[in-house]
Amino acid sequence: MEKILNYINGSYCAPLCGEWLDNYNPSTGKVYAKIAASNSEDIEAAYQAAANAFPAWSNTTIDERSRIMLKVASLIEKNLDKLAEAESEDNGKPLSLAKSVDIPRASANFRFFGNAITQFASEAHESVGLDTMNFTLRQPLGVVGCISPWNLPLYLFTWKVAPAIAAGNTVVAKPSEVTPKTAYLLGEILTEAGLPKGVLNIVHGLGPEAGQAIVGHPKIKAISFTGGTKTGEHIARTAAPMFKKLSLELGGKNPNIIFADCDYDKMLAVTVRSSFANQGQICLCGSRIFVEAGIYEKFKTDFVERVKKLKVGYPGDETTSIGALVSKPHMEKVRSYIDLARQDGGTVLYGGETVKVTGYEDGYYLQPTIIEISDNSCRVNQEEIFGPVVSIMSFKSESEVITMANDVKYGLSATVWTGNIDRTMRVSKQLESGIVWVNTWLNRDLRTPFGGMKDSGVGREGGFEALKFFTETKNVCIKYASEE
Ligand code: NDP
Repeated sequence: MEKILNYINGSYCAPLCGEWLDNYNPSTGKVYAKIAASNSEDIEAAYQAAANAFPAWSNTTIDERSRIMLKVASLIEKNLDKLAEAESEDNGKPLSLAKSVDIPRASANFRFFGNAITQFASEAHESVGLDTMNFTLRQPLGVVGCISPWNLPLYLFTWKVAPAIAAGNTVVAKPSEVTPKTAYLLGEILTEAGLPKGVLNIVHGLGPEAGQAIVGHPKIKAISFTGGTKTGEHIARTAAPMFKKLSLELGGKNPNIIFADCDYDKMLAVTVRSSFANQGQICLCGSRIFVEAGIYEKFKTDFVERVKKLKVGYPGDETTSIGALVSKPHMEKVRSYIDLARQDGGTVLYGGETVKVTGYEDGYYLQPTIIEISDNSCRVNQEEIFGPVVSIMSFKSESEVITMANDVKYGLSATVWTGNIDRTMRVSKQLESGIVWVNTWLNRDLRTPFGGMKDSGVGREGGFEALKFFTETKNVCIKYASEE
């Protein structure tokens, strides 16, 4: 059976303990590969490789770093089909989505940060009249840790490692053990692109074992983490006494606010996508839909009609809109929320059942599910489900919907549909979320700050924010004599 090996010091290697984990294909429910079950010894080996590589890499010219990163980007593109197939097999997402979104974005991440580093600059402050000049150095931190989740595997893995190495750091990185395949395949690409040994080390294994060893390693200077809020809390608790720099991109429970004055057809089409893309397993999905009372009944009918047409099926089939959920435990968790919604008085307008796909009967398929609720405080509207489940409810006024949108512990993203520019400004300013999309969704310019408020995280990624995170800021103050 295929083995997912670690990539340490530029070579593939088995875990030192010789232990392996099962890797499931969610579309069939079958084990198809064995994953290195690495522990702290492997993390130590990866750390040593990264520490040895740091002096040379941090002194490599910006042009050279950029050149290698652009080469990685091109090779990801060249391997689009192979990587997309691996992503779909590992995660259950439609192959068409992996081809059009996940893998192109992984390539874009390397290209973007390979270019961004050539433009990254720091400030100078002249203390006029005091014969003093200050300038700011932004120096790489050293060895940093990157930990990513399973929902957008290579997309989010590269979103972290690309700025880290662009800024001159060396890295110990761990993808989710649920979806390790594309990060494993990236090793070959790094070698082919000529990335020096030890600059990026990829270690597989369980979060509480391998992930914990990265976070707890006393010499790893910073942790960039994307994942669940509970895990983020645990990571913060481990890292804080060591004063590590932390970037935490955590869960969400994002409102999708629909005013009657919006472009209805556009809103409806995008709302289907923002609810169910990637089986609803995107931290930015709008899982709480609030609709202004005047169009609520019409929306309800039209939305259900549209969602009924989404085909749940084998991810490799081109006509599939909704593939398999990532794992059996995750599917059970999502189903338990649908049961809970029913107990809490919610009405399932559509979906709620598992689907048997012919030929793939053991896969983890679930219908897209729409639940009508009347109270924003119910658990289904307060807790992250992270699956193909949305709630809908109506609202009467702008102030009422802003209160409900904000009345949740998360604050990652929000979507607003309106044709009124004054309302756009008023609502955007009051929403407690790191990102507000108006009349669009998941529209990303990689230069913009990305991250959440409240329990959705700490810090911002994207553009120069990411390069700032991965560098230490140092002020150099020079007093000079104004006369010879
Ligand atoms: P988890 O928090 O379970 O895992 C995320 C990563 O952390 C995985 O690599 C996991 O490893 C690892 N991990 C788990 N425990 C520890 C630990 N004690 N120490 C170090 N690392 C650990 O999240 P999921 O993978 O389930 O991802 C889904 C979550 O991610 C959702 O809450 C979603 O909202 C959030 N997310 C947030 C985004 C954002 O940008 N804000 C974007 C995408 C997702 P392993 O899987 O191997 O156990």
